[in-house]
Amino acid sequence: MSLRSSFALLSFSLAALPSCATDVTWPTTMDRSSIRSPQDYLQPTVSGKTESALFGMVREDGKRFHEGIDIRPAKTNADGEPLDLVLAAMDGQVAYLNPNVNGPYGRYVVLYHAAAEIPVYTLYAHLAKIEPTLKPAQPVRRGAAIGLMGHTSAGASPITKDRSHLHFEVGLILSTGFNLWYSGQAENKQSANLHGLYNGQNLIGMDPLLILGQPKVDLLAALRSQPTALTVGLRTTKTPDFVKRYPALVRGDASRAVGWYVEFSWQGMPIRWTALEAQSPQLPAGRWRLLEIDQTQRTRLLQRKMLGPDGRTPGEQLTQNLEILLSTAR
Ligand SMILES: [Zn+2]
Repeated sequence: MSLRSSFALLSFSLAALPSCATDVTWPTTMDRSSIRSPQDYLQPTVSGKTESALFGMVREDGKRFHEGIDIRPAKTNADGEPLDLVLAAMDGQVAYLNPNVNGPYGRYVVLYHAAAEIPVYTLYAHLAKIEPTLKPAQPVRRGAAIGLMGHTSAGASPITKDRSHLHFEVGLILSTGFNLWYSGQAENKQSANLHGLYNGQNLIGMDPLLILGQPKVDLLAALRSQPTALTVGLRTTKTPDFVKRYPALVRGDASRAVGWYVEFSWQGMPIRWTALEAQSPQLPAGRWRLLEIDQTQRTRLLQRKMLGPDGRTPGEQLTQNLEILLSTAR
């Protein structure tokens, strides 16, 4: 091979790599080379349907949302308990540890990845054990063991040993004002928020398969690859903390904004924010208003309750996400 052609090959392979990318590791000790089909790594619900382990409206005939993916164990002991270790998917730090089995996630760990193209959290649930040396705020290297796979859960239906799995989530935090919002809800008077900002209602996930299974990922590009499903106009001169935390999702000058044009993905992630000025036609008269709906995504929007049953008005999930997002902007 001539020097010129080998150089051309080198420049081509460099160009093929994302210019900016985060190293990502499969979050269990499963040998990935053994995977031939999705059934080899997914743990379905008792329905036995493989897709029930995926992200989306995959449960109870599309009525129930699954905010992550369920990864099955590759190895079990003589009692059928998993031997797979759960690994940090990216470099980051410990955001939250829940060593108690007191909710649907059971024992779980949340990591925060501040150095990714956009700072995301990852969540690892139903653990049998959390690595005992982990402490909040401690740095964690990609691939480090953070726990042992299990089946812990205090949800409505227990997870049996034969359905042990890692529930893995990746996403964003809606608001640092979540606790304020939570305590203001009448239905929460009897149930304390045990998990602070790491309550599932304050975490908005995206499909983990947008980032898993490839060694390097541009997290921002993965997040932006989600299509806009509906848009909302907000009126507020106080900048939502979401906008400050995720400036890569923002267009325009936040300091001069009197409102925001927000594009949501179907599951309720606010993926693009555009600052609005006083004369903007998208600025609502009230606090917020649903503006546009992508009718090609109507079914999922209805299932997820982003839209009300009429398919035209805001649904419970959209309303809740907006109220949480605005909890620091009143
Ligand atoms: Zn799950």
